[in-house]
Amino acid sequence: MDDLRALIRDVPDFPRPGIIFKDITPLLGDAGAFDRVLEAMAKPWRGRGVSHVVGIESRGFIVGSPVAARIHAGFVPVRKPGKLPWNTVAKSYELEYGTDRLEAHADAVGPGDRVVIIDDVLATGGTGAATISLIRDLGAEVLGFGVLVELGFLGGRARITVPFEAVIRVD
Ligand code: AMP
Repeated sequence: MDDLRALIRDVPDFPRPGIIFKDITPLLGDAGAFDRVLEAMAKPWRGRGVSHVVGIESRGFIVGSPVAARIHAGFVPVRKPGKLPWNTVAKSYELEYGTDRLEAHADAVGPGDRVVIIDDVLATGGTGAATISLIRDLGAEVLGFGVLVELGFLGGRARITVPFEAVIRVD
């Protein structure tokens, strides 16, 4: 995993002073590394009867949709407000300053569906916790949550109340 780790670029002070942004584009641009990461993210959920993978906008789409295809599940986008064209359900959540909102199509998943949620980076866990709650509001079961990179020092994992998988952990 160290060679994968080396393909994640730290960008200091992006998008704001004090944030070290984990830039995954060098990893996405490397055919072999991208394939290995997708396989590592898909493996824990294979054979578990997952009906849908939910990807969180926007980098969660990049890894979530190929993981869905690998495990023969459907893909559901969870998006920022106003982006989805059909009837939506929404969940607001706290940010460091103020609140944000996520939306899903009201008919995207429902009772009897078995969902895995995928994102690129777990930081504070706020986005992930809101997405778990949103999918549960629709009546689906959330089997687990997977990310490419976990920022362990932020402790976000404590807010993810379902089985959690990370390919790379940064402390
Ligand atoms: P959080 O709600 O704090 O767990 O933040 C999760 C979302 O913000 C994820 O969708 C990430 O894409 C993004 N994010 C937060 N912090 C970082 C970071 N340091 N580097 C890259 N992406 C980040």
